[in-house]
Amino acid sequence: MTFDTIIIGGSYAGLSAAMTLGRSLRKVLIIDSGEPCNRQTPRAHNFITHDGHSPDQIRSLAKEQVLQYDTVTFQADKAIKAQKLSNGFEVRTESGDTYTGRTILLATGVSDQMRPIPGFAECWGTSIIHCPYCHGYEVRNSPIGILSNSGVTYDFVRLLSNWSKDLHVFTDGPCELPEDDCTKLRKHGIPVIEDEIQEFRHEAGQLKTIVFKNGLTTDFPTLFVRTPFSFATDLHEQLGCKLTEDGYIQVDAFQRATVPGVFAAGDAAHAFRAVSVATGSGTTAGAYIHHDLMHEEEPLA
Ligand SMILES: Cc1cc2nc3c(=O)[nH]c(=O)nc-3n(C[C@H](O)[C@H](O)[C@H](O)COP(=O)(O)OP(=O)(O)OC[C@H]3O[C@@H](n4cnc5c(N)ncnc54)[C@H](O)[C@@H]3O)c2cc1C
Repeated sequence: MTFDTIIIGGSYAGLSAAMTLGRSLRKVLIIDSGEPCNRQTPRAHNFITHDGHSPDQIRSLAKEQVLQYDTVTFQADKAIKAQKLSNGFEVRTESGDTYTGRTILLATGVSDQMRPIPGFAECWGTSIIHCPYCHGYEVRNSPIGILSNSGVTYDFVRLLSNWSKDLHVFTDGPCELPEDDCTKLRKHGIPVIEDEIQEFRHEAGQLKTIVFKNGLTTDFPTLFVRTPFSFATDLHEQLGCKLTEDGYIQVDAFQRATVPGVFAAGDAAHAFRAVSVATGSGTTAGAYIHHDLMHEEEPLA
């Protein structure tokens, strides 16, 4: 086997695992296609020592530090095939290279689905956001819209009421909220705007105006939305990894997936999406990959 571990995905989870493995003198290959989920957001928050730094700054510094370990190699490429061999794994990439490794770590994250409304994708991560723990403080006490029309809307409104009392629900079409929730929203004076949205007008991703299909407009600075997401790759399926009921790659407490030798970390394996959680799970994966490899080797070799 060429590498002790092939890490697919070289962002927070993958780089953290690589650092642990590099420091454990393991030969590691990181394959990364360079599209982390928070790439559009100007500043990342709630990550100690880097609060308010740009995601790119955090990743660049992490990569620089990881690549100081001379057993770690970084390859900018996309893994498209992964298969189990009798004694490890083979990974093929978009550019036609093939690598083999004793173990594999999937740190491939998830891919957020953009609503097909002009301006949505451009505002995503700047003024159309999903996580109050990441961005709520910056918009505290200002008007906040909640773009949502389902059974989870009320709970999201309730969570966001911690940061602002000036809340508006945009259902983008006839309201489908449970009647009970509508009553509670009315009781708290939270308007529910049912007009269908035509466009989000913005300046460099900063939302300015919501334009409705009926010609009405409203000026609004921030929208929170829980947008669906899918896996960034199907490599976990190719390898035969089981998923949890919620649809994440199933891992044990040490980030082992259900296929021996396969590990998963970061957003692909955890519902709580945060840089700190991704780095923490990457570090755990790195340590337990080393641990499991060590147990396959001759004692005190
Ligand atoms: C808009 C937005 C803003 C956020 N803001 C914050 C914040 O302020 N604070 C915070 O703590 N968290 C924030 N988060 C959450 C945080 O960004 C994620 O939890 C974190 O990025 C997850 O790290 P990860 O390494 O698992 O995945 P990612 O960072 O998404 O990285 C996955 C990597 O895998 C690569 N990859 C995928 N498939 C392949 C393949 N087949 N071959 C090679 N490479 C592949 C991708 O290109 C990417 O580089 C935000 C998320 C979003 C979407």
